[in-house]
Amino acid sequence: MNFLRWGAFWLGMGLFGLLLPHAAWASPPIPLTSQEESILFNLNYMAPVDLSPKRVHVEVYIPPLPELASFSRRWPQVWLRVQAFYARMNIYLEQSPAGAAPGPLAPGKRLRLEVLTQKEWLARTFKAFNVAPPFQLRFLKVCENKYAFAHLPLSVVHFSYKRFQDCVLHNEQGTEAQNVAWLANLVIHELGHLFGLYHSYEFSNDPVQDFLPDGKTPNFMSQHLTSPVDMGFVEFQKVMAHSYLSGGKVFRQFQYVELDPLRHLDLLKKYNSYREPSKQTSKRRAKSKAFGDYTEDDDDDDD
Ligand SMILES: [Zn+2]
Repeated sequence: MNFLRWGAFWLGMGLFGLLLPHAAWASPPIPLTSQEESILFNLNYMAPVDLSPKRVHVEVYIPPLPELASFSRRWPQVWLRVQAFYARMNIYLEQSPAGAAPGPLAPGKRLRLEVLTQKEWLARTFKAFNVAPPFQLRFLKVCENKYAFAHLPLSVVHFSYKRFQDCVLHNEQGTEAQNVAWLANLVIHELGHLFGLYHSYEFSNDPVQDFLPDGKTPNFMSQHLTSPVDMGFVEFQKVMAHSYLSGGKVFRQFQYVELDPLRHLDLLKKYNSYREPSKQTSKRRAKSKAFGDYTEDDDDDDD
């Protein structure tokens, strides 16, 4: 069991239950028979899904620190891109004022993005995954090529801006538009997790692949977040996100697994006969630039 799976396990156990404003998440779900489970997790039968426009509030917390000043400067442009992307999915994001402490957050309704220094990002990540000090050094290895984590049970995204800036963004003249686009891509991707979506590379035979059918547009839930072209989505993801945001089937799936994305993936795999990509494909992918978050699985970290 690796640290992330372990962390997600504890999150799933409801250690953060007290922080959740929704009474629905605080009580344990009613057990289902395997037949009921198979009906709930079968994605072939989604209808009817409410695809009406959805409004989601996002608190954006940027501490007034010198090393985050360039993010603050870029943020208005980044936010416009994030909003424009989700408007294409009929999801309308509104920015809410954010204090140092989270306001009243709620899954799929009121979310929070925290833009942090690397030190503060690690501290909040350890806390969110409940990594105790003896294990923190090892967990650092897991965090090596990661810049953000989306925590579904907390309705929060933690983003290490300074590290992203140092490792990914460019300083040369004429690269500013690209930096803004890449920052937006990261935020778009992480919010996708808070809308109930999983990575494009989780399964080889589901409708979500790394690139759209045109072969060149990267899926926003892939790792291709520094692509020169804009990202896209497939209809299946729009349906899943709306199902989640409207309290439909996908929302009920997450209720059932107590917002644990790994348990959610396991049950999707089981009841849709999804297959994981071959080890070779995974290894090739691991070599490309990774923008990790909670469902990253690294075989080398297995206990
Ligand atoms: Zn991700």
